[in-house]
Amino acid sequence: MVNLATRFVVMEKKQIIIGAGLVGSLHAVYLAKRGVKVEVYERRPDMRAIDISAGRSINLAISHRGLKALDRVGLKEKVLEMVIPMPGRMIHDVEGNTNFQPYGKNGQHINSVSRGGLNALLMTEAEKAGVKIHFNQRCLKMNLETGKASFRDEKSGETQDVIADHIYGTDGAFSEVRHAMMMTDRFDYSQTYLKHGYKELSIPPAEDGGYRIEKNALHIWPRGGYMLIALPNLDGSFTVTLFLAFEGKYAFEKLNTEQEVLHFFNEVFPDVVPHMPTLVEDFFSNPTSSLCTVRCFPWKYKDKAVIFGDASHAIVPFYGQGMVSGFEDCYVFDQLADEFWNDKEALFDKFQHSRKPDADAIADLALRNFIEMRDLVADPKFLLRKKIEKALSAKHPEKWTPLYEMVTFSEMRYSEALARGKEQDGIMEEVLSWKDIEDNWESPAVFSKIEAVALA
Ligand SMILES: Cc1cc2nc3c(=O)[nH]c(=O)nc-3n(C[C@H](O)[C@H](O)[C@H](O)COP(=O)(O)OP(=O)(O)OC[C@H]3O[C@@H](n4cnc5c(N)ncnc54)[C@H](O)[C@@H]3O)c2cc1C
Repeated sequence: MVNLATRFVVMEKKQIIIGAGLVGSLHAVYLAKRGVKVEVYERRPDMRAIDISAGRSINLAISHRGLKALDRVGLKEKVLEMVIPMPGRMIHDVEGNTNFQPYGKNGQHINSVSRGGLNALLMTEAEKAGVKIHFNQRCLKMNLETGKASFRDEKSGETQDVIADHIYGTDGAFSEVRHAMMMTDRFDYSQTYLKHGYKELSIPPAEDGGYRIEKNALHIWPRGGYMLIALPNLDGSFTVTLFLAFEGKYAFEKLNTEQEVLHFFNEVFPDVVPHMPTLVEDFFSNPTSSLCTVRCFPWKYKDKAVIFGDASHAIVPFYGQGMVSGFEDCYVFDQLADEFWNDKEALFDKFQHSRKPDADAIADLALRNFIEMRDLVADPKFLLRKKIEKALSAKHPEKWTPLYEMVTFSEMRYSEALARGKEQDGIMEEVLSWKDIEDNWESPAVFSKIEAVALA
């Protein structure tokens, strides 16, 4: 007679991640460090073996929350070796004058990092921790009740089904896992496109291999309804992104010929044109992409599936917090997992309720920062507000932290930062309405009045 005890070993629950982008790869590292034998299914080929762009923007900004999430799994220092610090914005006006605006105090900075480089590092670290990544596997559909996910091999065309106990959907803004959830009852979903799209361009390194414009800054050419930005790369180049309306007077629809593109750039961004020898070529070979905010709820289905990162909250890129907030998802999930690991439904539920208000807040903040970046950074009232806030914050660091610093350099919940930011708006609106404030705000009497209003 067969001894039943030898036949029924306790099977470890099968856990899979769909999507090995930035967030999925970091989550894989987190799960592996927890001792989970996780497998990842990724639609694209292995970017480390072939030269593919890892996504829509070649570099991106990583700031405190993202670094904190990397630190929890021991990867912060490795990533810091790949970054270029950006302690402020370099504003370029139409005449070509520049004005450096520090982001925070005491050298606080955000960092430019290669999207592909970071994604590759995270995949390698996940594999080192024991994760198996299956490339060229596109998830086509899934059955949330049974945990069956169907994949098509993008090379051979063959399909396979994988049955998992728990599925983590980190498959980006057009998530297939979310799509399956959308078919369930009482699933809220919205996607809202901006009237603006974006196009990536580039500034190559100087002939001596150096940087053609200031290396340690996030460059912005704000022009009211549109803007150009540039972030530095380690090789001396800059990734440049044009944010422009699809339709209208200044719009992508008006830029159809070499002459139109050169005329537009020479008219509104004249100082950068000499640094962009491949402008026309880049303009016509790179796609024009759209920008979308995705909100949905719930983020989980029973204990079977949960969605993270852009899959549950895709936001517009103007606060540099899309990936960062996805990394913070991994961090928060891991903290909750310490307590609820053995009850996945409770864990998924705690996670979604904990993160949803913050995901909504950073979505709103990102939309709001678009206006600030393209418009207000060149507005004298806005600059005056920045100066007053800086002075307040220097004198009362415990009581007044500007919104940008709360979002970018602190660990305060996004929802709290947004609420405090709205209060600050009201206070600053009042202060800026005072007569002659631009001339006398530094006088001791007026500054005391500002303190009385602001710190009440
Ligand atoms: C122009 C621009 C600039 C940005 N700049 C910043 C910035 O400075 N800082 C910042 O923090 N964020 C920035 N972001 C946002 C950031 O890019 C995203 O938030 C981040 O990429 C989200 O990571 P993710 O892993 O959730 O999704 P993704 O990066 O989209 O990864 C999803 C992965 O899932 C895979 N996948 C998709 N569908 C399937 C499927 N059906 N089956 C299997 N695999 C699938 C994809 O191939 C991909 O690898 C920017 C975004 C844009 C558009």
